[in-house]
Amino acid sequence: MTYPFSTPTTVTKYEQITETPERAMVIFAHPDDAEIGAGATAALWASRGCEITYVQCTTGSSGSNDIEMTSERIVAIRAAEQRAAADAIGVSDIVILNHPDGELEADRVFLGEVVHALRKYRPQVVFTHDQHRVNGFQHRDHRHVGITVQDAIYPYARDHLHFSDQLVNGLEPYKVKHLFFWGADQSDVIVDVSDSVDTKIDALSKHESQIPGLSFGSDMDRRMRSRHEDAAKGYGFKYGEIFRRLTARA
Ligand SMILES: [Zn+2]
Repeated sequence: MTYPFSTPTTVTKYEQITETPERAMVIFAHPDDAEIGAGATAALWASRGCEITYVQCTTGSSGSNDIEMTSERIVAIRAAEQRAAADAIGVSDIVILNHPDGELEADRVFLGEVVHALRKYRPQVVFTHDQHRVNGFQHRDHRHVGITVQDAIYPYARDHLHFSDQLVNGLEPYKVKHLFFWGADQSDVIVDVSDSVDTKIDALSKHESQIPGLSFGSDMDRRMRSRHEDAAKGYGFKYGEIFRRLTARA
């Protein structure tokens, strides 16, 4: 039977981001999230001289399906994998907050840690999980990172009367210019990552405990590339990485 009404179609038009900031930060819940969400853009910008800082919020201590695996062992394995992936991307610094995997709360302690990282590294652009995504299940830690990062940027890192005890030894309030969410239901910006999608796949392949069997030419490689290819259709380049962007008022 033919559906008797016309199906609404959404024409998604992304604004293309071509500028490279001096400093950017990727704030993520678990080892591998940063590369999945923003790896190609981070690699591209790093290659153009942007200083990239990672803030890893949990240890990834629950990330194993192997019943023989212990939390201690998986934490050590994932820390080494994340370091190798970050090196492949060209990340300058990694801040590790060490919350237990699955136990990250959007509380004042975590908020203060994110505010401190923003005030210390002063990124113009921050990437994180989209806490407002409703299209499908999402890890609780991801939601808590997303909402905490958005709150940390505005108003907490910006205003000197919030976490004012941090403002010693040269640390000052800081205003982030743009917040880019990955995994959004409705993305609105795109970055041409045709030159860096290989680096993203290479970095992701370092997370062997999480994504076994990922290598150039594998099925997973093809699936990942096709997602980036689909995003870029109609834009005149081959691969795109997409985000939902919030911009602070001047
Ligand atoms: Zn995750």
